[in-house]
Amino acid sequence: MASTPHPRLNKTIKIVLKQIYKLLSASASFSEILCPICASSVKYHSKYQKWLYHERISIIRVKCSNPHCGTTHALIPEFSVPGCSIATAELEKFIRLRLHGVSVDTAGQCFVNAGMSPDYPEEIHKRMKKYFHRIEAVFRPSKRFINYQEIIMTLAHVKNDPILSINLQSIDHRCNPVLFSRINILFFQENIIDRDISLNPPCSRSP
Ligand SMILES: [Zn+2]
Repeated sequence: MASTPHPRLNKTIKIVLKQIYKLLSASASFSEILCPICASSVKYHSKYQKWLYHERISIIRVKCSNPHCGTTHALIPEFSVPGCSIATAELEKFIRLRLHGVSVDTAGQCFVNAGMSPDYPEEIHKRMKKYFHRIEAVFRPSKRFINYQEIIMTLAHVKNDPILSINLQSIDHRCNPVLFSRINILFFQENIIDRDISLNPPCSRSP
């Protein structure tokens, strides 16, 4: 693994880690977070580490206090894409460039510049193509879209952070986040029994 960190991330990571440790030491802060499935309060559950390019960042998992739900949720910093090692800023840039007809390799050069392997643009492109079908299945748009960049940027309805917008709208569709969740489509049941299920189980795979 390369030892050179992504230059833009150092300061941001320190800020987020500080906030996370503050949350850990003052669990009352979780009172501001509600379970996205049943809107009950949550409590600290566990933490794990994920990669952000060549940095490790701490991720806290909280658990819904409703005994009929009990779902665990990972609190992912908004600059980090869940389930992989890239940052939100580069992913958005990639999707926007693809929307304007830029090739996969050229649009994905930002990932390589940030420390990912030269194969990564093609890897993320294939992953996004799979998500295209998930989005169609969950959102059932009346218009027919031809690729992931078009469906994401159209359905997101926002200029910034389209990934977050799509994932939040997934929850409105009573489904787990369709983008970058490591499990496939999971529709929430109305009466969830008390069990420890996670929408995004931890992954410690290196980039
Ligand atoms: Zn819940």
